[in-house]
Amino acid sequence: MPELPEVAALAADLRERAVGRVIDRADVAEFSVLKTYDPPLTALRGARITGTARRGKFLDLIAEPPEGPQLHLVTHLARAGWLRWRDAMPEAPPKPGKGPLAFRLRFTDGSGFDLTEAGTRKRLAVYLTTDINQIPGVASLGPEPLDASFTPEVLAAILGGRRTQIKGVLRDQKLIAGIGNAYSDEVLHAAKMSPFRLASSLSPQEIADLHAVIVGTLREAIDRSDGLAASDLKKEKKAGLRVHGRAGEACPVCGDTVREVSFADSALQYCPTCQTGGKPLADRRMSRLLK
Ligand SMILES: [Zn+2]
Repeated sequence: MPELPEVAALAADLRERAVGRVIDRADVAEFSVLKTYDPPLTALRGARITGTARRGKFLDLIAEPPEGPQLHLVTHLARAGWLRWRDAMPEAPPKPGKGPLAFRLRFTDGSGFDLTEAGTRKRLAVYLTTDINQIPGVASLGPEPLDASFTPEVLAAILGGRRTQIKGVLRDQKLIAGIGNAYSDEVLHAAKMSPFRLASSLSPQEIADLHAVIVGTLREAIDRSDGLAASDLKKEKKAGLRVHGRAGEACPVCGDTVREVSFADSALQYCPTCQTGGKPLADRRMSRLLK
């Protein structure tokens, strides 16, 4: 799933490609992806792209129609969504139905992009709005971790008194924007902290260290993906991850085997030596299988 660094890179890539182009048409191929109905997608016809932005994991394409207010075409790619730029788009609108295509935007010069979603769980979302803060998922976002205003004090206030596991806090979009399952694993590994630590139990020093690791991990990932085209981002993200998605492989820091804890619809990865004093965490699903 694209998280803050990948969405930032997509916004940068799209800025290079799309700004200045004029929209010919926007079409949904999977009706459930469009979460708004006013203004309609036809309001985009003739609008010129003036910029792109990122809020949390939301990608914002800013368009100026010939008349009327500025429009924001906002996308949340969810777990299995992706954006694919095409220099030559078919002229006919896509046929709704089977396949990964969810949404298509075509510019008047024939170029454009597809939003695709793999798998059967359709979570990709598209919004067209005059005010991005009207989107509930955007309005409820916590602070942006790469903003100067995200200080160790702000992180301390988020964690203070929160008797929940740090892993869940880091990936809660309402508490901190843009970090998901992958980068929360990476942050906790770099911070040498158990994903099950209670957020409220961190000392001021641990909070300061964790803050530095959050900012450093995200900045590093952004630097790695800087200048990459959308098509190369996924490969780069995977290559840059140290523990996430690497259960069974050797920890690049200490050589111990990266382990996994599975949940109903996700899994976390960690290194026992680096993060949990050498002790594997209980994996309820595994122990149930072993009984
Ligand atoms: Zn390790």
